[in-house]
Amino acid sequence: MKKQKITVLGSTGSIGTNTLDVVARHRDRYEIFALSAATQVDLMLRQCAEFKPVYAAMASPEHALLLAEKLKQNGLQTQVLQALDALEMIASHPDVDAVMAAIVGAAGLAPCLAAARAGKRLLLANKEALVVGGALFMQTVKSHGATLLPIDSEHSAIFQCLPEDRSSWHRRVDSLLLTASGGPFRERDPATLSAITPEQACAHPNFSMGRKISVDSATMMNKALEVIEARWLFDMEPDKIKVVIHPQQIVHSMVQFRDSSILAQLGTPDMRVPIACGLAWPERMESGAACLDFSRLAALTFEEADERRFPGLHLSWQALRAAEGTTAVLNASNEVAVAAFLEKRLAFDRIHAVNLQTLETVVPSALSSLGDLLELDTQARQAAEVIARQWIL
Ligand code: NAD
Ligand code: MG
Repeated sequence: MKKQKITVLGSTGSIGTNTLDVVARHRDRYEIFALSAATQVDLMLRQCAEFKPVYAAMASPEHALLLAEKLKQNGLQTQVLQALDALEMIASHPDVDAVMAAIVGAAGLAPCLAAARAGKRLLLANKEALVVGGALFMQTVKSHGATLLPIDSEHSAIFQCLPEDRSSWHRRVDSLLLTASGGPFRERDPATLSAITPEQACAHPNFSMGRKISVDSATMMNKALEVIEARWLFDMEPDKIKVVIHPQQIVHSMVQFRDSSILAQLGTPDMRVPIACGLAWPERMESGAACLDFSRLAALTFEEADERRFPGLHLSWQALRAAEGTTAVLNASNEVAVAAFLEKRLAFDRIHAVNLQTLETVVPSALSSLGDLLELDTQARQAAEVIARQWIL
């Protein structure tokens, strides 16, 4: 069997390193064509030594230079890239079969679209790219014959539960049930949310994840982004996407059919499962994750999300009902607010206030291209920065 060549965008992050863990278990099937990271030079050097990619892209010239020097000192041949279009090049290169999109934030949108335009198999962890790209993203995938496979565990679960024949989904499916852990503050008194520190917010009960998604899990904005992601991935009416809190994270999500039958996908909470599923689909291969041991499983519980504690969750449906592009505004605002919180410039409970006010301030007009979306993203970021400044700590 010819080996599949893979580009991993965001290889030094939580999803990126888990992807390389799965790839390392299947060197007979996969080889790494290119890796990319923002600033983590030493980890990138180790990854280059282990996987010998043709290219490694870094986000800034200083980090690229440092990596190039270290690669040379270690006698490694990987070519270092740094340019705005470097990510697009390694995502769309003719030699590449599949692209793992594991950059965090809207920064990952352009390379995702480049991979889609080149008709690649696109493994999407970078949910913000789809939240921003919306219909344009899905049209690009469709018109270039690319294959879009979800890596977000909830969407991978739904993808695995849905009938393979996409044309029959709407006839058969009643609704999608996204499960949510509820994050570390599910039982905390809402009156004390303002005192939460970045360290507390990033201590997720079940997963070790990047800092941005950890904060999003704590506010449940992660689930809001996932509702939007599901709307596009599965072409589902927003009102048919529901959220249920399931703290144990064993049931990764569910599909309810017309006859009230519900299919769920279960497993230990380990991102290597959806990663292996996406890489091998429609085959299955070993992921490295432990199997569920039903004899030792504690009770599985489900509850409704408390709106007072998680006011941001409902912004997803609100944004989906508003003008096209409103989800991009929400995403940009949330990225700005989360960054301000992580830099200790904004209180935890103000993240929602910034998002709400940015949505009221920035109203998108007609969008027809990636350029329009990126302009809207910039405009929303600027507005959110100004709004966040009024609550500066
Ligand atoms: P992370 O912060 O651990 O890693 C992000 C990666 O992207 C790093 O390699 C970083 O160097 C790179 N990066 C960051 N900003 C960049 C920029 N501006 N340009 C180029 N590269 C940049 O994040 P993560 O937890 O791995 O999450 C990655 C994506 O996957 C996010 O969109 C997240 O929502 C999604 N996701 C993560 C998990 C998880 O368990 N971690 C689960 C589901 C979905
Ligand atoms: Mg998820």
